[in-house]
Amino acid sequence: MIKVNYKPGPINLYNIGNIQEIKRKKTCEKHLATNKGINLIGFCENKKCKVCGQKVIQNIYDFKLDLTKINGKMKCPICKESCDVNNIGFFNCYYHIYGTQFNSKTDTMEPFNEEIPHFENAAINNGFVIIKDKKIKVNKTPKNKFVCFNESGDKILYIKFIIQVKKFKD
Ligand SMILES: [Zn+2]
Repeated sequence: MIKVNYKPGPINLYNIGNIQEIKRKKTCEKHLATNKGINLIGFCENKKCKVCGQKVIQNIYDFKLDLTKINGKMKCPICKESCDVNNIGFFNCYYHIYGTQFNSKTDTMEPFNEEIPHFENAAINNGFVIIKDKKIKVNKTPKNKFVCFNESGDKILYIKFIIQVKKFKD
């Protein structure tokens, strides 16, 4: 888990089932650098920062991140000030997301997926992890392609949003 002092709270984020692929440049400016695993994407709002108003990416080196625990916040890699996470990118990894979302049509909280214990070390066969008698489907990024959620749809309110990754071996 990354250490930040934000209050926990629900977050607004895109539909996690709707993914888009983004071209990844081999070399790029520091504030747009991506890394294997989880990459939080936002816009720096610090007027004193040289990339204020621009897209910024924070690389998360952990295998697990509870985004609601940090209230959907991230740090600008240049000025280290916090800003809202607008999207999440994944690179060269398997990823699994679980939590609780709010269904505005039925006015109910709906849990989705479940935690995969020690996902970073789990055996994955044909896109599935097998836990006891359960088969859980996991997501896989195309090799050397950066993927994130499609920003065209409406955002969903997530009461709990936890990401797990297993990075590809080199
Ligand atoms: Zn900044």
